[in-house]
Amino acid sequence: MAVTLSVVIPVYNEGEGIQLLVKRLKESLGTLGVPWEVILVDDHSIDSTPEVLQQVCAENAHFRSLRLSRNSGSHIAILAGLEHSQGDCAVFMAADLQDPPELIGEMLALWRQGYKTIWAVRAGREDIVLIDRVFSHAFYWLLNRFGELTVPPDGADFAMVDRRIIQELSQSVGANPSLFLEIAKLGFPQATVSYIKEARKFGSTKWNMRKKLKAFADAFVSFSYAPMRAMSYLGLTFSALGFLYASYIFIMHILAKQPIMGYASLMVGILVIGGVQMIMLGVLGEYLWRTLDEARDRPHYFLEDLSENSATAIPNASAVLGTGSTEGGAK
Ligand code: UDP
Ligand code: MG
Repeated sequence: MAVTLSVVIPVYNEGEGIQLLVKRLKESLGTLGVPWEVILVDDHSIDSTPEVLQQVCAENAHFRSLRLSRNSGSHIAILAGLEHSQGDCAVFMAADLQDPPELIGEMLALWRQGYKTIWAVRAGREDIVLIDRVFSHAFYWLLNRFGELTVPPDGADFAMVDRRIIQELSQSVGANPSLFLEIAKLGFPQATVSYIKEARKFGSTKWNMRKKLKAFADAFVSFSYAPMRAMSYLGLTFSALGFLYASYIFIMHILAKQPIMGYASLMVGILVIGGVQMIMLGVLGEYLWRTLDEARDRPHYFLEDLSENSATAIPNASAVLGTGSTEGGAK
C-alpha cells in the first residue's frame, strides 16, 4: 500500500509518555482518510524507550522505529526519519505532545493545494519559562536580522514537507544542520498554519543549555557571515584607535614636550587587544571546525540496528532518495 502521509518523531528518553503519544496519533491520523505511517526515531535513549518502541511497533502495523547509534540531537533524528519515510508528504513533530497532531489535517489540505512546506507557527505557548522565551526570541531575531534568509519570527518546530523537499534536503544539508533553516532556505512554495504550543504532557525538556548554544551557533554560522564581518570592522576600529593614540603621543611629545606615562596605558592596550584577538580567533574557530566537518563529509548518523522492524528494511531507501549513500541514507 502506498503511503501518503509519514509522521516522523524524534524520541529521546520519552519512555513514560510514548503510549499516550501513540494513542493520540492513532486517533487523529485515523480520521484523515489517507494511508499513513509513523516513524519513531530513537535518538539513542537510555531509558525504557527502546523497549516501549519495540512493543508499539509490534502491536501497530502503522508504526516503525529506527534507533541511532549515538545521541545526535533532534535535527539529525528528524533527518534520519525523513530519509526513511515513504510518504508523499511527511510531518515532523516532537514526542511530548506539545505540538497537537490534530493540526495535521489542516496542513494536509494546504499540501494538496500545492504547498511544499507547511510551517506550524506558534501563535502562543503555554510551556515556556522566561529565560527560554528570551532566548528563543533573541535567536530568531538575530537570525532574521543577520541571517541570509527569512524564518518565521518566532520560529517553528513542527512542519509538513513534500517528498521533493526531503529529496533536496538529503542532497543539500551540511554536516551540522539546522534542519528548519535548511528547509526554509530551500525555497519552494511555503505556507503556515498557527497553533498554541501546549505545555509538555509528560517528562521534561531534553534540550539543555549546552545543546541550545550549539544549535544557536550552528544556525548562525550556517546562515550568517555577520560575525566574520564584525571581526573585520572591529579590527579596523582598533587599528584606527591605535593610530589616533599614536598620533596623540607624537603630538604631545613634539608640542608639549610631555612624555606619556607608560605602564598603565600599555597594560590596558595589551589586555584589550589581546582579548579582542582571542574572541576573534574563537569566532574563526567556529567557522573553521564546521568547515572541517564539512570537508570530512561523514554520514550524519548510523542506525544501530539494520534489521527487522527497523525502517531500513525498506528496500533501497537511499536509492529512492538518490543520495547513493551506504549507511543510513545519510549524505
Ligand atoms: N530530542 C531528541 N534528541 C535530543 C533532544 C531532544 O530526539 O537530543 C527530541 C525529544 O524527545 C522531543 C523533541 O526532540 O521529541 C523536542 O525536544 P523537547 O521537547 O525536549 O524540546 P523543547 O520542547 O523543550 O524545545
Ligand atoms: Mg517539547
